[in-house]
Amino acid sequence: MAEKFDLFVVGGGSGGIRAARYASSHGIKTGLAEGWTLGGTCVNRGCIPKKLYAFASHFADELQIMKSYGWSTLESRFDWKKLTANKKKEIKRLNYIYCNLLKKSKVRVYNNYAQFLDDKILKIGNKLIEAKKILISVGTKPKKLEQFKELNLISSDEAFDLKSLPKNILILGGGYIAVEFASIFNGLGVNTSLCIRGKRILKDFDSEISEFLMEQMSHKGIKIIREDFPKKIEFKNNKFNVCFSRKRLSYDRIMEATGRVPNLDKLKIHNANVKLNNNGAILIDKNFRTSQKHIFAIGDVVDRVQLTPVAIAEAMVFVKNLLSKDNHKLSYKNIPTAVFSNPNYACIGYNEKEAKKLFGKIKIYKSTFKALKLSITNSNEKVFIKLITHKSSDKILGLHYIGENAAEIVQGFSVAVVNGLTKKQLDKTIGIHPSSAEEIVTLK
Ligand code: NDP
Repeated sequence: MAEKFDLFVVGGGSGGIRAARYASSHGIKTGLAEGWTLGGTCVNRGCIPKKLYAFASHFADELQIMKSYGWSTLESRFDWKKLTANKKKEIKRLNYIYCNLLKKSKVRVYNNYAQFLDDKILKIGNKLIEAKKILISVGTKPKKLEQFKELNLISSDEAFDLKSLPKNILILGGGYIAVEFASIFNGLGVNTSLCIRGKRILKDFDSEISEFLMEQMSHKGIKIIREDFPKKIEFKNNKFNVCFSRKRLSYDRIMEATGRVPNLDKLKIHNANVKLNNNGAILIDKNFRTSQKHIFAIGDVVDRVQLTPVAIAEAMVFVKNLLSKDNHKLSYKNIPTAVFSNPNYACIGYNEKEAKKLFGKIKIYKSTFKALKLSITNSNEKVFIKLITHKSSDKILGLHYIGENAAEIVQGFSVAVVNGLTKKQLDKTIGIHPSSAEEIVTLK
């Protein structure tokens, strides 16, 4: 006999957990299946450990800066094993918190993978589940490049728990993950190269910003190989020998960061006749409904915006619509985001090219300067601010910031940008002096 639920959530990541908790605490009989540890990619193999490792890597700069401020330190040494062990401890704590939150909300949790037998019945181990509504929130996993699949290349999944740091590493790709890990490894003392087939990293972001960030990353010692990509990789004598079109180089490790693919292998989604798009992601309508009217999907697996806060927002809208007759919709406009590179980059709104295309006449304000904190140091790190406004309405169309604490700064401004902030309103605001962010309200 199948156990019956009003709502069954497959996938215990940020989106799935939020949906399950919210639904169950409003009286909807809810179950959730997760085969790995609770918290999904974000908590276990993504945002949280990545940010901890980014903090660790930034101390390399701080140790240099300290000297210009009169501090001398004993010889500093970095202990990778200690970092990985402390990271594990913290993640265990978070897993436990998620487990308790689900328990408190009376969600029935199954610690195993679910698979569809048909569009109404799921099988988990030897149990059968029947649900009036099913929500798929299984996320994504690292994409493996076909031509290198026989080689033991790592992805972000393995990078967090390497037994030891390599002496040198080649990172393939130039998206969020590649750029963040390049900064992490470089900061931790690994000789780091990043390789992109195109001209610039973060291709979908503002081109000037990505050029500026590449320059900053290069100053910090990251070698960026552009418009080239490994033609052939051979593993010999514990080294990866890589043939580029113009040179041969060898590395201790190679990390693939060339995107992520839907994590659907275990779900047997074909049994439920749910339609997928060309990338293999689940197709949904504005209400997160798949091609089956009682099956829904949210989060990275739907290939909209692959960000934790977006998955959580989708979960909230999905459950609100279950609870009421109002048809809530999620706006995907003006989603702030950050790349935790060194230096950090954060933005909200459009890049210059998009803004020009969508709004025609725009105005650009820019500022580049050395942050006060670095003024008495030898660092050549610079802050770069770029503001894009609509010429006729004066509204802010895009705000881009490269520099320390970019995410914290842009998060604050995002509230105003989402609510239609104009340049005139920015001009009316008095700056906090001395700060780097005050430059945003004094741009001319
Ligand atoms: P991205 O889509 O950001 O970047 C993929 C990179 O891989 C691009 O540089 C792309 O190059 C390159 N690439 C793709 N296919 C190939 C190929 N066949 N050969 C060579 N290069 C290739 O993916 P990520 O894996 O970095 O991140 C996945 C998602 O996770 C992001 O989109 C983001 O939403 C989320 N994320 C968010 C973070 C944050 O909020 N800070 C952090 C990490 C991830 P090209 O430009 O030439 O196509």
